[in-house]
Amino acid sequence: MKRTEYHCQSCGRAIYFDGLCYNCRQRQSRERAQAWSDVEVARKMRAIIAALDDKFYKKEENREFFELLAYKDISTEKIAEAATRVGVYYPSELYRDAPPKAREKLLALLETPECKEASHILLCLALAGGEDVLATFARLERNPLPWVKKLHVPLSVYAQAGGWTFDKAGNHIQLNFDKCYPVFSASPDNSDAAVSVAVPREETCPHCGTRLVDILMLDGKDRRLAFLNLPGTVRVPCCPQCSCEGFIVRYQLDGDSAMELVNPFGDGEKMRDNVYAEMVTKKFALSTRPESLFFARGNDEDVITVGGFANWIQDFQYEPCPDCGKTMRYFASVPWAALMDSAEGALYLEICPDCQIIGAFHQQT
Ligand SMILES: [Zn+2]
Ligand SMILES: [Zn+2]
Ligand SMILES: [Zn+2]
Repeated sequence: MKRTEYHCQSCGRAIYFDGLCYNCRQRQSRERAQAWSDVEVARKMRAIIAALDDKFYKKEENREFFELLAYKDISTEKIAEAATRVGVYYPSELYRDAPPKAREKLLALLETPECKEASHILLCLALAGGEDVLATFARLERNPLPWVKKLHVPLSVYAQAGGWTFDKAGNHIQLNFDKCYPVFSASPDNSDAAVSVAVPREETCPHCGTRLVDILMLDGKDRRLAFLNLPGTVRVPCCPQCSCEGFIVRYQLDGDSAMELVNPFGDGEKMRDNVYAEMVTKKFALSTRPESLFFARGNDEDVITVGGFANWIQDFQYEPCPDCGKTMRYFASVPWAALMDSAEGALYLEICPDCQIIGAFHQQT
Protein backbone atom coordinates (compact mmCIF):
# COMPACT_ATOMS: atom_id res chain seq x y z
CA MET A 1 0.00 0.00 0.00
CA LYS A 2 1.35 3.42 -0.88
CA ARG A 3 1.09 5.87 1.98
CA THR A 4 -0.25 9.33 1.21
CA GLU A 5 2.56 11.85 1.08
CA TYR A 6 2.13 15.26 2.68
CA HIS A 7 4.51 18.13 3.10
CA CYS A 8 5.45 19.63 6.45
CA GLN A 9 3.47 22.84 6.80
CA SER A 10 6.55 24.68 8.00
CA CYS A 11 9.64 23.38 6.16
CA GLY A 12 8.04 21.48 3.27
CA ARG A 13 9.84 18.16 3.72
CA ALA A 14 7.92 15.04 2.70
CA ILE A 15 6.06 13.40 5.62
CA TYR A 16 3.25 10.84 5.91
CA PHE A 17 0.73 12.81 7.92
CA ASP A 18 -0.79 16.25 7.68
CA GLY A 19 0.92 18.80 9.93
CA LEU A 20 4.44 19.53 11.05
CA CYS A 21 7.46 17.23 10.73
CA TYR A 22 9.18 16.02 13.91
CA ASN A 23 12.01 18.52 13.64
CA CYS A 24 9.69 21.50 13.17
CA ARG A 25 7.69 20.42 16.21
CA GLN A 26 10.93 20.26 18.21
CA ARG A 27 11.89 23.71 16.93
CA GLN A 28 8.52 25.07 18.01
CA SER A 29 8.87 23.55 21.47
CA ARG A 30 12.31 25.19 21.73
CA GLU A 31 10.88 28.55 20.67
CA ARG A 32 8.12 28.18 23.25
CA ALA A 33 10.70 27.50 25.95
CA GLN A 34 12.87 30.42 24.82
CA ALA A 35 9.84 32.69 25.27
CA TRP A 36 9.13 31.63 28.88
CA SER A 37 9.01 34.67 31.18
CA ASP A 38 11.13 34.92 34.35
CA VAL A 39 7.99 34.20 36.38
CA GLU A 40 7.33 31.03 34.40
CA VAL A 41 10.97 29.96 34.74
CA ALA A 42 10.83 30.44 38.53
CA ARG A 43 7.57 28.47 38.73
CA LYS A 44 9.01 25.61 36.66
CA MET A 45 12.11 25.52 38.85
CA ARG A 46 9.93 25.18 41.96
CA ALA A 47 8.03 22.37 40.23
CA ILE A 48 11.33 20.62 39.42
CA ILE A 49 12.47 20.83 43.03
CA ALA A 50 9.13 19.45 44.22
CA ALA A 51 9.35 16.56 41.74
CA LEU A 52 12.86 15.39 42.74
CA ASP A 53 12.84 11.70 43.63
CA ASP A 54 14.29 8.49 42.22
CA LYS A 55 11.75 8.51 39.35
CA PHE A 56 12.49 12.15 38.43
CA TYR A 57 14.22 11.26 35.16
CA LYS A 58 10.97 9.77 33.83
CA LYS A 59 8.87 12.83 34.63
CA GLU A 60 7.68 15.77 32.58
CA GLU A 61 9.70 18.00 34.96
CA ASN A 62 12.89 16.27 33.80
CA ARG A 63 12.13 17.24 30.21
CA GLU A 64 11.43 20.82 31.29
CA PHE A 65 14.65 20.85 33.31
CA PHE A 66 16.66 20.16 30.14
CA GLU A 67 14.73 22.84 28.25
CA LEU A 68 15.48 25.35 31.01
CA LEU A 69 19.16 24.38 31.01
CA ALA A 70 19.44 24.51 27.21
CA TYR A 71 17.29 27.49 26.34
CA LYS A 72 17.23 29.67 29.48
CA ASP A 73 20.70 28.79 30.79
CA ILE A 74 19.36 28.53 34.35
CA SER A 75 21.61 28.24 37.37
CA THR A 76 20.97 24.83 38.94
CA GLU A 77 22.28 25.95 42.34
CA LYS A 78 18.95 25.69 44.21
CA ILE A 79 18.03 22.48 42.37
CA ALA A 80 21.36 20.88 43.27
CA GLU A 81 20.90 21.83 46.95
CA ALA A 82 17.47 20.23 46.96
CA ALA A 83 18.68 17.14 45.07
CA THR A 84 21.48 16.66 47.63
CA ARG A 85 18.94 16.86 50.47
CA VAL A 86 16.77 14.11 49.00
CA GLY A 87 19.68 12.05 47.61
CA VAL A 88 18.77 12.25 43.92
CA TYR A 89 21.83 11.82 41.69
CA TYR A 90 20.31 11.46 38.25
CA PRO A 91 20.40 13.19 35.82
CA SER A 92 23.86 14.50 36.69
CA GLU A 93 23.14 17.86 34.99
CA LEU A 94 21.09 18.78 38.09
CA TYR A 95 24.47 19.44 39.71
CA ARG A 96 25.95 21.68 37.03
CA ASP A 97 25.98 24.69 39.40
CA ALA A 98 26.18 22.77 42.67
CA PRO A 99 27.40 25.16 45.41
CA PRO A 100 30.43 24.20 47.56
CA LYS A 101 28.25 22.80 50.39
CA ALA A 102 26.43 20.41 48.04
CA ARG A 103 29.73 19.33 46.49
CA GLU A 104 31.19 18.72 49.97
CA LYS A 105 28.28 16.45 50.83
CA LEU A 106 28.77 14.40 47.68
CA LEU A 107 32.54 14.31 48.11
CA ALA A 108 32.07 12.99 51.67
CA LEU A 109 30.04 10.09 50.29
CA LEU A 110 33.02 9.11 48.14
CA GLU A 111 35.26 8.75 51.19
CA THR A 112 33.48 5.63 52.41
CA PRO A 113 34.99 2.20 51.55
CA GLU A 114 31.79 1.01 49.84
CA CYS A 115 30.23 4.06 48.26
CA LYS A 116 26.72 3.24 47.05
CA GLU A 117 25.66 4.90 43.78
CA ALA A 118 29.28 5.83 43.16
CA SER A 119 28.84 6.03 39.39
CA HIS A 120 25.99 8.53 39.57
CA ILE A 121 27.66 10.61 42.27
CA LEU A 122 30.89 10.78 40.25
CA LEU A 123 29.00 12.01 37.19
CA CYS A 124 27.21 14.67 39.28
CA LEU A 125 30.55 15.87 40.61
CA ALA A 126 32.04 15.82 37.11
CA LEU A 127 29.27 18.16 35.99
CA ALA A 128 29.79 20.40 39.03
CA GLY A 129 33.56 20.59 38.55
CA GLY A 130 35.70 22.72 40.87
CA GLU A 131 39.12 22.37 42.44
CA ASP A 132 37.82 20.29 45.34
CA VAL A 133 36.34 17.76 42.89
CA LEU A 134 39.52 17.66 40.79
CA ALA A 135 41.70 17.11 43.88
CA THR A 136 39.49 14.29 45.19
CA PHE A 137 39.21 12.55 41.82
CA ALA A 138 42.98 12.72 41.29
CA ARG A 139 43.72 11.46 44.80
CA LEU A 140 41.25 8.57 44.54
CA GLU A 141 42.69 7.59 41.17
CA ARG A 142 46.18 7.43 42.72
CA ASN A 143 45.06 5.79 45.99
CA PRO A 144 41.81 3.98 45.21
CA LEU A 145 39.30 3.02 47.90
CA PRO A 146 37.70 -0.43 47.46
CA TRP A 147 34.71 0.91 45.46
CA VAL A 148 37.02 2.67 42.99
CA LYS A 149 38.55 -0.66 41.99
CA LYS A 150 35.11 -1.93 40.93
CA LEU A 151 34.53 0.88 38.43
CA HIS A 152 34.76 -0.01 34.74
CA VAL A 153 36.61 3.17 33.80
CA PRO A 154 39.06 5.39 35.74
CA LEU A 155 37.94 8.56 37.47
CA SER A 156 39.68 10.69 34.84
CA VAL A 157 37.14 9.27 32.36
CA TYR A 158 34.19 10.00 34.68
CA ALA A 159 35.40 13.61 34.76
CA GLN A 160 34.95 13.80 30.98
CA ALA A 161 31.18 13.84 31.48
CA GLY A 162 31.68 17.40 32.73
CA GLY A 163 33.87 18.37 29.79
CA TRP A 164 37.21 18.07 31.61
CA THR A 165 39.75 15.52 32.77
CA PHE A 166 43.17 15.45 34.46
CA ASP A 167 46.64 14.04 33.84
CA LYS A 168 48.73 11.74 36.05
CA ALA A 169 50.00 14.74 38.02
CA GLY A 170 46.43 15.86 38.71
CA ASN A 171 46.51 18.85 36.35
CA HIS A 172 43.14 19.98 35.02
CA ILE A 173 42.59 19.59 31.25
CA GLN A 174 39.59 21.23 29.59
CA LEU A 175 37.84 19.02 27.02
CA ASN A 176 35.20 21.32 25.64
CA PHE A 177 34.75 25.03 24.96
CA ASP A 178 33.06 27.59 27.18
CA LYS A 179 30.90 29.05 24.43
CA CYS A 180 28.26 27.48 22.24
CA TYR A 181 26.80 28.72 18.96
CA PRO A 182 24.05 26.81 17.18
CA VAL A 183 24.06 26.72 13.38
CA PHE A 184 20.49 27.10 12.17
CA SER A 185 19.13 26.31 8.75
CA ALA A 186 18.67 29.50 6.76
CA SER A 187 17.37 30.74 3.44
CA PRO A 188 20.07 31.34 0.77
CA ASP A 189 19.70 35.11 1.44
CA ASN A 190 20.62 35.00 5.10
CA SER A 191 23.10 32.14 5.18
CA ASP A 192 26.46 33.34 6.45
CA ALA A 193 30.11 32.60 5.80
CA ALA A 194 31.28 32.03 9.38
CA VAL A 195 30.24 28.38 9.10
CA SER A 196 29.55 26.53 5.86
CA VAL A 197 28.13 23.04 5.93
CA ALA A 198 28.47 20.18 3.41
CA VAL A 199 30.26 22.12 0.67
CA PRO A 200 31.31 19.87 -2.26
CA ARG A 201 35.07 19.42 -2.79
CA GLU A 202 37.01 18.53 -5.92
CA GLU A 203 38.27 15.10 -4.84
CA THR A 204 36.32 11.87 -4.50
CA CYS A 205 36.42 9.25 -1.73
CA PRO A 206 39.10 6.59 -2.35
CA HIS A 207 36.77 3.92 -0.91
CA CYS A 208 33.37 4.61 -2.53
CA GLY A 209 33.88 7.28 -5.18
CA THR A 210 31.43 9.77 -3.62
CA ARG A 211 32.54 13.35 -4.09
CA LEU A 212 33.84 14.58 -0.73
CA VAL A 213 32.30 17.52 1.10
CA ASP A 214 33.67 19.92 3.66
CA ILE A 215 31.20 18.82 6.28
CA LEU A 216 32.13 22.00 8.16
CA MET A 217 34.16 24.98 7.10
CA LEU A 218 34.84 27.40 9.94
CA ASP A 219 35.98 30.98 9.58
CA GLY A 220 37.94 31.23 12.81
CA LYS A 221 38.45 34.96 12.22
CA ASP A 222 34.72 35.61 12.69
CA ARG A 223 34.51 37.23 16.15
CA ARG A 224 31.81 34.76 17.24
CA LEU A 225 34.20 31.85 16.70
CA ALA A 226 37.21 33.52 18.36
CA PHE A 227 36.73 31.19 21.36
CA LEU A 228 37.98 28.27 19.23
CA ASN A 229 41.35 29.97 18.94
CA LEU A 230 41.73 28.97 15.28
CA PRO A 231 42.70 32.24 13.56
CA GLY A 232 42.14 31.16 9.98
CA THR A 233 39.94 28.93 7.87
CA VAL A 234 39.52 25.33 8.93
CA ARG A 235 37.91 22.79 6.63
CA VAL A 236 36.75 19.33 7.66
CA PRO A 237 36.67 17.14 4.52
CA CYS A 238 34.45 14.10 4.85
CA CYS A 239 32.98 11.30 2.79
CA PRO A 240 29.29 11.52 3.70
CA GLN A 241 28.83 7.89 2.64
CA CYS A 242 31.51 5.99 4.55
CA SER A 243 32.44 8.12 7.55
CA CYS A 244 30.57 5.96 10.08
CA GLU A 245 33.70 4.36 11.50
CA GLY A 246 35.35 7.73 11.90
CA PHE A 247 38.04 9.66 10.11
CA ILE A 248 40.97 11.94 10.78
CA VAL A 249 41.63 15.35 9.25
CA ARG A 250 45.01 17.08 9.18
CA TYR A 251 44.30 20.78 8.81
CA GLN A 252 46.15 24.01 8.17
CA LEU A 253 44.74 27.39 9.13
CA ASP A 254 44.85 28.48 5.47
CA GLY A 255 41.99 26.09 4.66
CA ASP A 256 44.17 23.28 3.37
CA SER A 257 43.03 19.93 4.81
CA ALA A 258 43.50 16.24 4.12
CA MET A 259 41.17 13.45 5.24
CA GLU A 260 42.07 9.87 6.16
CA LEU A 261 39.39 7.23 6.65
CA VAL A 262 40.11 5.12 9.72
CA ASN A 263 38.02 2.13 8.73
CA PRO A 264 35.73 2.79 5.75
CA PHE A 265 32.11 1.88 6.38
CA GLY A 266 29.98 -0.10 3.95
CA ASP A 267 30.60 -1.95 0.72
CA GLY A 268 32.07 0.92 -1.27
CA GLU A 269 28.79 1.88 -2.90
CA LYS A 270 28.61 5.52 -3.96
CA MET A 271 26.05 7.82 -2.31
CA ARG A 272 22.90 8.23 -4.40
CA ASP A 273 22.93 11.44 -6.46
CA ASN A 274 19.57 12.71 -5.18
CA VAL A 275 20.63 12.25 -1.53
CA TYR A 276 23.94 14.01 -2.20
CA ALA A 277 22.14 16.87 -3.96
CA GLU A 278 19.73 17.27 -1.03
CA MET A 279 22.64 17.43 1.40
CA VAL A 280 24.70 20.06 -0.42
CA THR A 281 21.85 22.46 -1.22
CA LYS A 282 20.84 23.18 2.42
CA LYS A 283 21.96 26.57 3.69
CA PHE A 284 22.90 27.53 7.23
CA ALA A 285 23.75 30.51 9.39
CA LEU A 286 25.68 30.72 12.66
CA SER A 287 23.54 32.06 15.49
CA THR A 288 24.08 35.78 16.04
CA ARG A 289 24.46 35.23 19.79
CA PRO A 290 25.98 32.55 21.99
CA GLU A 291 23.58 30.16 23.68
CA SER A 292 23.73 27.92 26.74
CA LEU A 293 26.56 25.39 26.70
CA PHE A 294 23.81 22.77 26.91
CA PHE A 295 21.89 24.04 23.88
CA ALA A 296 22.26 20.72 22.04
CA ARG A 297 20.74 18.84 25.01
CA GLY A 298 17.42 20.72 25.06
CA ASN A 299 15.38 18.34 22.94
CA ASP A 300 16.03 16.17 19.91
CA GLU A 301 15.90 19.00 17.41
CA ASP A 302 18.49 18.39 14.69
CA VAL A 303 20.66 21.44 15.18
CA ILE A 304 24.35 21.68 14.37
CA THR A 305 26.30 23.22 17.26
CA VAL A 306 29.80 24.61 17.61
CA GLY A 307 31.24 24.53 21.14
CA GLY A 308 29.50 23.69 24.41
CA PHE A 309 28.46 20.16 25.32
CA ALA A 310 27.53 17.54 22.75
CA ASN A 311 24.19 15.80 22.79
CA TRP A 312 25.70 12.30 22.87
CA ILE A 313 23.46 9.66 21.36
CA GLN A 314 25.50 6.95 23.11
CA ASP A 315 27.93 7.53 25.98
CA PHE A 316 30.14 10.60 25.99
CA GLN A 317 33.26 9.92 23.92
CA TYR A 318 36.53 11.83 24.03
CA GLU A 319 39.10 10.22 21.77
CA PRO A 320 42.90 10.35 22.04
CA CYS A 321 44.78 12.31 19.38
CA PRO A 322 46.18 9.76 16.90
CA ASP A 323 49.54 11.58 16.89
CA CYS A 324 50.31 12.68 20.47
CA GLY A 325 47.83 10.50 22.39
CA LYS A 326 46.41 13.39 24.45
CA THR A 327 42.62 13.46 24.81
CA MET A 328 41.17 15.68 22.10
CA ARG A 329 38.80 18.56 22.76
CA TYR A 330 35.19 18.37 21.57
CA PHE A 331 34.20 21.33 19.37
CA ALA A 332 31.21 20.57 17.11
CA SER A 333 28.51 18.11 16.20
CA VAL A 334 26.45 17.64 13.07
CA PRO A 335 23.23 15.62 13.32
CA TRP A 336 22.92 14.03 9.88
CA ALA A 337 19.18 14.71 9.77
CA ALA A 338 20.00 18.44 9.63
CA LEU A 339 21.37 17.67 6.14
CA MET A 340 19.36 14.69 4.91
CA ASP A 341 15.76 14.01 5.94
CA SER A 342 16.14 10.26 6.18
CA ALA A 343 19.54 10.15 7.89
CA GLU A 344 20.18 9.02 11.45
CA GLY A 345 22.87 9.67 14.01
CA ALA A 346 25.34 12.48 14.41
CA LEU A 347 28.94 13.27 13.58
CA TYR A 348 31.09 14.52 16.47
CA LEU A 349 34.26 16.52 15.90
CA GLU A 350 37.20 16.80 18.30
CA ILE A 351 40.47 18.63 17.88
CA CYS A 352 44.12 18.51 18.92
CA PRO A 353 45.41 22.02 18.12
CA ASP A 354 49.01 21.01 18.97
CA CYS A 355 49.08 18.42 16.17
CA GLN A 356 46.53 20.25 13.96
CA ILE A 357 44.38 17.16 13.86
CA ILE A 358 40.61 16.78 13.92
CA GLY A 359 39.12 13.43 14.88
CA ALA A 360 35.58 12.69 13.71
CA PHE A 361 33.27 9.86 14.70
CA HIS A 362 29.65 8.89 14.40
CA GLN A 363 27.09 7.73 16.94
CA GLN A 364 23.56 6.53 16.45
CA THR A 365 20.89 4.70 18.39
ZN1 LIG B 1 9.26 20.63 8.96
ZN1 LIG C 1 33.31 7.10 0.78
ZN1 LIG D 1 47.90 15.67 19.25
